[in-house]
Order: sequence, then C-alpha cells, then structure tokens
Amino acid sequence: MNGLSDEQMQLLMEYLAAVAYCKFVMGRRNIKYIRSAMEAAKPMVAVDLIYCSDCGDLYRRTQWYLKGEHVPVWRCVSRLEKRKSGIDCPSRTLYETDLHAAVITAFNQMIEQKDEFLPGMRLAMGRALAQNNSPRVAEIDARSEELQKELLKKANAKQGFEELADEIDALREEKQALLLEDANRTAMKQRLDELEAFLDERQEPVTDYDEGMVRRLIERITVYDDHLAFEFKCGLETEVQK
Ligand SMILES: [Zn+2]
Repeated sequence: MNGLSDEQMQLLMEYLAAVAYCKFVMGRRNIKYIRSAMEAAKPMVAVDLIYCSDCGDLYRRTQWYLKGEHVPVWRCVSRLEKRKSGIDCPSRTLYETDLHAAVITAFNQMIEQKDEFLPGMRLAMGRALAQNNSPRVAEIDARSEELQKELLKKANAKQGFEELADEIDALREEKQALLLEDANRTAMKQRLDELEAFLDERQEPVTDYDEGMVRRLIERITVYDDHLAFEFKCGLETEVQK
C-alpha cells in the first residue's frame, strides 16, 4: 500500500472520476469550466487534519458550482452524509480560500509572536526532558531481575509462583508506559525543534498556502462558527477569526 487513508483514497477516486468526467465533457464545455472542475476536485493532503467542533467528525473537501465556476469548499462529513450518519450537524461550510487564508494567518501569528512564546516553551521542554524516567526504569530492571531469580526457585518449590509472576507482569507494563512517556517527550522536543527551524528561517510573513508546511507543523484544525482553532504538533495553539 502507498499509505493513503480511506479518506484520502476516496478523494483520489473522486478526483480521478472528475478527470474522467472532464475528458468526457471536453468537447462541449469551455476550458475554464474544465479547469475549475479539475482544480476543485484535486485531492488535498490536509484531508485528515480538519475537524468539526459540533460533532467531532472530519471536514471533507467537496465543491460547489457557483456562477459558472467550481468552488472548493470544506464541510463536515456527518453533515455531508446526513443519511448515513443520522447526524444533522449544524456546522458551517468553509470556503477553501478562507481556510487557506486562515492557515497563512496562523503561521504569521506564530512568526510574529515567536519571541514571546519560544523562550518559555524551550524552558518547559528542558524541564520536561530532565524529568525522564530512566531512574525508575533502572529500578524496575533491577527488581525484575531479582524476581526472575526468585521465580526460578519457586518454580521448583511450586508455591507463591503466581504472585511473583503477577508482580513481574505489572513491572513490565509500568516500564513500557514509562518508556512510551519518554519517547513522547523526545518526539515533542523534535516537533518544537522543527517549529523553531521553520520560524528561524522565516523572517518575512508567509504569503502563500503550503500544503507541506501544514502537514509538517499542524496537528489539527477545528472549525467553529466564527473562528478556526489551530493545534500545532509541538502542542502550541492559536485561533484565527474566519
Ligand atoms: Zn459536524
């Protein structure tokens, strides 16, 4: 597999269907119509980033035909598939031009405010990384080793075996959780580094929408009635009225 989610695969299929349709109408419609249809049907990578604040479902790209042009818009999937979902979600329709403008604004807010939030974030991150779980993991390893030895003795004696085995299991689970916590902290640090690198290389405001940038830095966009909430991968959040 090429790693496409069901949602992305569906969009790809819609796109291919739109291309086939465009070829079909090529002879009878003007080129502007065809171009707008193809442009509006283009699959977007950010397909699994945008969520509805009302019902929590994803937003999906679709298109409206307005004044002779196909206009890409984003709508809540529950609302789009009302019959299937059984949810009459009141969420709004978001024009893609507004979505892109809001993304650009969110990035520019980050760039403008970086001196305010970056030092604090670096400090917090440094503290979080210093509190890693290595000491407790070492304790667990030592205790597990002791228990394994005891277990061998008990196995021969056939008594108290289960209690020891349970404790070993519990320690193993605790260790896994602690290692995962450390791994998450390290991943968070990498994301913060990535955001910093992005902010450092950009002295000028962002002017164009860049899908790759969105994919790299944004974890989630939630659509509210009067604004969009952006959650960056590093944990930072910002809102844009749109
Ligand atoms: Zn919804």
